[in-house]
Amino acid sequence: MMAHTIPAATGFLVSAQQGGDQGPVPVFATRGAHETVAESLRAQTLNAVLVHSGSPEGAMARSGDTALVLAGEFYNREELLTLLPADADAGTDARLLLALLGVYDLHAFRLLNGRFAAAVALGERVLLATDHAGSVPLYTLPAPGRVIAATEIKALVPSTVRTPPSGRPVAEARRVRRVPGVHQVPAGTVLEIDVRTGTAVPSRTWVPPVSRRILPEADAADAVRGTLERAVRARAGTTTPLVVLSGGIDSSGVAALAAAHTDGPLDTLSMGTDTSDEFAEARVVATHLGSAHREITVPTADLLGQLPYAVWASESVDPDIIEYLLPLTALYRALDGPARRILTGYGADIPLAGMHREDRLPQLDTAVAYDMATFDGLNEMTPVLSGIQGHWSTHPYWDREVLDLLVPLEAGLKRRHGRDKWVLREAMSTLLPHETVTRPKLGVHEGSGTTSSFSLLLIDAGVPEADVHRAKSLVVMEIFDRVAVEGVPPAEVSTTDTVHRVAARLKESQ
Ligand code: AMP
Ligand code: MG
Repeated sequence: MMAHTIPAATGFLVSAQQGGDQGPVPVFATRGAHETVAESLRAQTLNAVLVHSGSPEGAMARSGDTALVLAGEFYNREELLTLLPADADAGTDARLLLALLGVYDLHAFRLLNGRFAAAVALGERVLLATDHAGSVPLYTLPAPGRVIAATEIKALVPSTVRTPPSGRPVAEARRVRRVPGVHQVPAGTVLEIDVRTGTAVPSRTWVPPVSRRILPEADAADAVRGTLERAVRARAGTTTPLVVLSGGIDSSGVAALAAAHTDGPLDTLSMGTDTSDEFAEARVVATHLGSAHREITVPTADLLGQLPYAVWASESVDPDIIEYLLPLTALYRALDGPARRILTGYGADIPLAGMHREDRLPQLDTAVAYDMATFDGLNEMTPVLSGIQGHWSTHPYWDREVLDLLVPLEAGLKRRHGRDKWVLREAMSTLLPHETVTRPKLGVHEGSGTTSSFSLLLIDAGVPEADVHRAKSLVVMEIFDRVAVEGVPPAEVSTTDTVHRVAARLKESQ
């Protein structure tokens, strides 16, 4: 039943409590209508606000003493359905999850390949779960008698006023800056919380593979192509998908596979700035695939002015991540019109060590191991980025099956014959023009000139070159405090003013 363009819900705020009162109306960056849900169970009441685009009932399920809400979607529905009786009530992903919980309890989350966050009230427990990659951020404050959780920090903050934190740490979960008691649910984790005590016990539902697999060249390339093809097909939906296309091997590969599964031309979209773009490279691919292609040019000054939107959407305080997400924020904000299902080439570089311009295999594998161990909490994959414009984005390279294949490939398949990401290039070699298959890596922050123009803005404000990275970090943290913690709308926060304040502070402290 993945007939819709976007999932039944794309965000939520929940409050599960032993009493039964209602929380404040939350403010999300994710655009959509709000649906209020209240389910009274024997020992607790689940109150929720769902962000949706017309069919919120598809995002909740209730049976007996269990009620749940789901933001996002699953990509292995067919496989999951084989675990249930043929007449099981599993028409939506939320109902499917409910049925699986009835059979496997919290271990149901180990079975899912998806892009989602879920909150379940059952008996006296609350389960909060992320997908394997934590690709839909989820935050919680578990307190005695009341557990609150939301897919955005800013939606949760007002509810924290009436929920004094227990002061107890949530094992393995990262604290959120400046919001006492609020933690981010780790990637690939289900938190099992006792609603009476607020005690949270984490269980990992996925961990990145640490062993390495040996395959002949041809088998490796075939496996990559087949697995990626399934991941793209599962994400393509039933309306024409839109691929955000840089013309690099990653997004071009996704576009080629999506084009093969779309009746009529695929939609592709490229962004550039007045200083830099990859338009020519993307056009080669668009022409080859016959896609309906669009280019958007964002003036650099506008781009930097949108920094508060990138922080507001991603709620990340990592300056490198924000810099990388900024051009995509501008791209999505410029994408007017009806809600779109967007496929990206995001993330292929992490399991394949594409951004490490490195020939030696030990160093390459060190990079893969490090990046797979540290991606969590950065919010690089958040759906809110396109959600601020009402769209839904999804990343085939971070499909669970794709990662389970790519991460363990021995390093010599990733770097081979003098090529980075060799196995991916080989897998795509018959689907794309030769120049695309052999094109070197260019990150979006480089291709759009974002990194250099952000640096220049700081240097022009008087920040010494050696302090630029630290200054970027201070700018991002200050913006985070305003838009995520204090609830200030991003339109009211100025990048330039923040940069000047940070530059002045740095000068004083010298
Ligand atoms: P990259 O940093 O190049 O790995 O970018 C990650 C993903 O963002 C790509 O695979 C594309 O889907 C998208 N992307 C990057 N650059 C652009 C661009 N200039 N225009 C449109 N989409 C882009
Ligand atoms: Mg690129």
